[in-house]
Amino acid sequence: MSYVTDYVIGYRKTMHLTKTDFKEYLLCSHSFWFQKKRPEEYVPGEFSLFLKKLIEDGYEVERYVRTMFPDGVLLEGDRATLISKTKELVQEEQTLFQATFQTEEGLFAQIDVLRFNNETKKWDIYEVKASSEIKTDIKHNHIKDIGFQALVVQKSLGAVGESSIIYINKEYRRQGAIDTEKLFIIENVSERVAKQNKDLLGEVEQALALLAIDDLPLESCECFYKSAGQHCDSFAVFNRAVPDYSVHHVVTGKKLHQLLLTGVVHIEDIPGDFPLTDIQRAKVDLQKNGEPLIEQLAIRDTLSRLTFPLYFLDYETYGTPIPILDGYKTNQQIVFQVSLHVLRESGDLEHYEYLAPALDGATLGLVTFLREHVDAPGSIIVWYESFEKARNRELGELHPPYREFLLTLNERIFDLMKFFKKEYLHPEFQGSASIKNVLPVLLPELTYKTLDIQNGTMALSEWEKIIKGQVRGAEAETVKHNLLQYCCRDTYAMVEIYRFLKKLTHRDS
Ligand code: SF4
Repeated sequence: MSYVTDYVIGYRKTMHLTKTDFKEYLLCSHSFWFQKKRPEEYVPGEFSLFLKKLIEDGYEVERYVRTMFPDGVLLEGDRATLISKTKELVQEEQTLFQATFQTEEGLFAQIDVLRFNNETKKWDIYEVKASSEIKTDIKHNHIKDIGFQALVVQKSLGAVGESSIIYINKEYRRQGAIDTEKLFIIENVSERVAKQNKDLLGEVEQALALLAIDDLPLESCECFYKSAGQHCDSFAVFNRAVPDYSVHHVVTGKKLHQLLLTGVVHIEDIPGDFPLTDIQRAKVDLQKNGEPLIEQLAIRDTLSRLTFPLYFLDYETYGTPIPILDGYKTNQQIVFQVSLHVLRESGDLEHYEYLAPALDGATLGLVTFLREHVDAPGSIIVWYESFEKARNRELGELHPPYREFLLTLNERIFDLMKFFKKEYLHPEFQGSASIKNVLPVLLPELTYKTLDIQNGTMALSEWEKIIKGQVRGAEAETVKHNLLQYCCRDTYAMVEIYRFLKKLTHRDS
C-alpha cells in the first residue's frame, strides 16, 4: 500500500479534491494547502465580484452549449442526488449535463457534457470553456482540467472515450439569433490528454498526499524570491516579515535575489551603492526620503499645452462571452455609460452624463450624446488612455457615420495618469499610478468608499441588473442613481486632480 493510499483512508472522510482544487494545487501547493486546511484564515485579496462574474459567464456559455446536444438531460439537486441520478441514467446511456462522480480516493467531478458513443461504446466527455482559445499557461491549463475530469470518469465508469473542449470562436460576430454552430469550436484533445496522463496521475496523488498533512511550516514560500507581480493572495501568510510594500515591488530577478540573500526586505534598507536603474533608484529614494517627488516645471509645461475647454471623460463598459448585441464579438465591451465634466478657461464647470436605459440602442445613444456634448477644440482628459481610445475605435466600427468623429476624439486625448508615473511620485502611492491609489493621498475627501458603487466591476454588475430586468421601479431608479454617482465621481476626481496640480505648480513657480 502506497503512502498516498495510506493517508487516503483518513482523507476520504473529510475532504474531496475537485477540478478547481486541483487547479489551485497546480498553481501553488502552499496556497492550495492553506485554502483547504485553514479556510477560516484565508483572506482573498481582490474581491471576487470579478470572479463571480466569470463563473456566471461560464454558466451562461454552458446554457448555449446544451442546445447543441438536444437529447441531453440536465441533472440538478444536491450532491447525493446528483451522484445517484448519474448512476441511474448512465445505465440508460443517456447524454448528461453535470453528470457527477465521486471516487473512492475522494476525487470529485461534474462533467459539462457526458455522452455515450455508440460506435466506441465508451463515454465521451466535453469540457466547456468561456474563453476563445484552449489555454495551457501557468494560470489556466485546460488540458489538465479535462484530464482531471477524464480521470474521474475513468475511475468511475471503468473507461473513458474521447475528450473534447468546447470554446468560443473569437471571429464570430453576432447578427440576429446566436448561431451555436458558428459560435462554438469543438476540439478533440484526447491525444493531448493521453500524453499528459502519467504526469497528471502523479500530480493528483501529490495533491491528495498534501491534504493529508495537518501542519505545514508557514515561515516562507517559493515566491519569496519572486517579484510582487507573481505573488498570490497568500504571500503575506507565508512571509510575515515582509512588509506590504517591499523590495519585491522595486527589483526583479538576480537583483531581488541578491538583496533577499543579504536580508534586505525593506526598500529603505537597500544600500546606496546597490546597482539600480534610474526608475528603481527614484522609487527607493522616494521611500527613503518619505517625501513626494514632484517635477513641477515639467508638470506645468504639460498642463500649459492643454487646450480649453477641458473635457474630462470616463466610460463604463460591459462585456460577455456570448455576444449580446449585433455586430459584437465575444467579450467585446459595450460602452453603456459616460460621464463628462467640461471645464472652461474661466473656471466654470459643467457636467453631462449618459446612462443607457436598455441594451437596445445603448451605444447609438452614447455616440449621439458624445456628438452633442463634445465640441472642438478642447483637450479630452482621461485616466489610462488606451482603454477609452480602444472603445472609441470599436464604437466607430459599429457606427460608421460617427467613425471620423470618434477617431478625432482619440487624437485629442490626454492621459492624466501619466503625471503619476514619472513627474509626481509619492511614497504612499506604493508604486502605483492607479486613480484608486492616487486619489486617497491627494484628495482623501473624494473617497469612493462613501459610494454604493465603488469600482467598475460593481458598476457593470449593477447595469446588468437593469438590462436583465432584475430590478424595476424604485429599485431600478436607485441603481441608476448609484451608477451615475459613481461615474460622475471618476470624472470629478480627475477635475480636482487637475486643479490640484495646476494650483501646486502655479503656487511654487
Ligand atoms: S506567494 Fe507563496 S503561496 Fe502564493 S503562489 Fe507564491 S509560493 Fe504560493
